[in-house]
Amino acid sequence: MTEEQSARKEPAVITVKPEWCKGCGICVAFCPKDVLEMEGGTAKVLRPDDCIKCMLCELRCPDFAITVE
Ligand code: SF4
Ligand code: SF4
Repeated sequence: MTEEQSARKEPAVITVKPEWCKGCGICVAFCPKDVLEMEGGTAKVLRPDDCIKCMLCELRCPDFAITVE
């Protein structure tokens, strides 16, 4: 297995900064794997194991409130 392949298998660490999130729901709408869900006005990470690290949530968030590592 190459280093790149093993890196891809590492579970993603998705972080939502609740103080920056305005609850627009864009990240939830763009996530192709339904990893995220709106809860109490902010985005919540529900299924991090399903994340394919496409980075769409991070790219689309207008407030830079969500990061994927
Ligand atoms: S990186 Fe992609 S799959 Fe992972 S939570 Fe963000 S939008 Fe969903
Ligand atoms: S896109 Fe950003 S501001 Fe909008 S709900 Fe998601 S984390 Fe919050």
